[in-house]
Amino acid sequence: MTDTDLVRAIQHGDRRAVARALTRVEADPGGPLAAALYRHTGQAHVVGITGSPGAGKSTLVAALTVVWRAAGRRVGVVAVDPSSPYSGGAVLGDRVRMGRHHGDVGVFIRSMATRGQVGGLAQAAADAVRVLDAAGFDRVVLETAGAGQAEVAVADECHTTVVVVAPGGGDDIQALKAGILEIADLFVVHKADLPGADAAVAHLRSALDLGAPAREPGWEPPVLRVSAVADTGVAELAAAIDAHGDFLGRGEAWVRRERRRAEAELRRQLFARLVAPLLARADLDGPAGPVVERLVARQLDPRAAVDQLLAARAGAAGAAAAA
Ligand code: GDP
Repeated sequence: MTDTDLVRAIQHGDRRAVARALTRVEADPGGPLAAALYRHTGQAHVVGITGSPGAGKSTLVAALTVVWRAAGRRVGVVAVDPSSPYSGGAVLGDRVRMGRHHGDVGVFIRSMATRGQVGGLAQAAADAVRVLDAAGFDRVVLETAGAGQAEVAVADECHTTVVVVAPGGGDDIQALKAGILEIADLFVVHKADLPGADAAVAHLRSALDLGAPAREPGWEPPVLRVSAVADTGVAELAAAIDAHGDFLGRGEAWVRRERRRAEAELRRQLFARLVAPLLARADLDGPAGPVVERLVARQLDPRAAVDQLLAARAGAAGAAAAA
């Protein structure tokens, strides 16, 4: 099947085509298929759900999906789990997650795990979001278990970022340290059926009152108490996410976020094409032996090393063009 045929099938919502495309973008992030899909995307409301492992994100996403399905929304989920040994469909994990959504054509869930080059996972996840967007899922959830940097990257990919913290374990304090206040459009204090939820809510609210910079003028990030297990607050969370989407859509904020997504994409692809190959080669075949070893031995300074690597790259590009 050519990329053009595959793109067409995805647009018709053909589930096997969607599954095949997700596998392809995972194997070849930023490749020709993702490029062919790009102009058919931009319709979905992309929602990032992030927080520590065990905060209850997958349980929460499953519960949110129920609410959105009842409202007639089509829901796609890309779950990025860097620690998972599964990949390429993560069949076992997805079957567990799918649970009550099994057989529902309005839901598509795909897990991804680390493999291949550094940075490839972020690109694959962004591409997977676009596959589901092109397939007509109007809510696309990007669920990530990350710390610090990973969460910031999620915010660049999404229109709405939800930060999930669970009471106890210092999770809420951790969130403050990681600069999470700046990226969250909504906070969820999850597992509100457990003790400590009120304290976590109070803690977050006071931190927000202390004047965390608002990401978007006119939007105060709400702090919601939710328990997916007890089914409290889930409908309110879905409504708050939708309200944020409506808020963005009313002004220029949506365009600003789209611009941020496009810039993130450009930066990532430039890095993959220009920088990542140099980094991959640095240890292996620097022009005069392993560059890192020569830096360690003080035979070379870092600036000269970079000059050499760039010169070698220009030479290789010239040779390729001449061939
Ligand atoms: P994730 O790693 O953030 O995706 O977390 P999971 O969704 O896998 O949940 C981690 C654990 O928390 C599981 O044992 C869940 O059953 C439990 N859990 C999820 N939601 C709730 C909740 O609302 N209340 C309580 N008490 N436990 C929950």
